[in-house]
Amino acid sequence: MSKKTKTPKAEPVRDETWRDLVLSHDLFAGDFGDGSERTLCNKIAIAKRGGKCRECTGPIKKGETIRVIKMVDSEGFYGGRCCQACCDAMALSASDGGKAMDARAARASQATES
Ligand SMILES: [Zn+2]
Repeated sequence: MSKKTKTPKAEPVRDETWRDLVLSHDLFAGDFGDGSERTLCNKIAIAKRGGKCRECTGPIKKGETIRVIKMVDSEGFYGGRCCQACCDAMALSASDGGKAMDARAARASQATES
């Protein structure tokens, strides 16, 4: 492809550093770990459809920048999609000691209680 065309569709607005921080954040730290887990997919994407965030259980809107993660271990497949706000929190967690992610988790527990 030599011709550069401007795509009208939404592209991730976050830069490389942001992506690296988000993707390197270990979502499953402490939850799993029998040694058999493998990452099948771990990427930043644009949501093609709405849905629910696996972290904060909040809505994912179409066109949002999200993290898609798919894992497999001896128990089976797991993973899901994380909303833009949670991605931002993941990027922050590298420097704030996890406070931003705790705030997202608190949101999730509130949502399930109501
Ligand atoms: Zn979320």
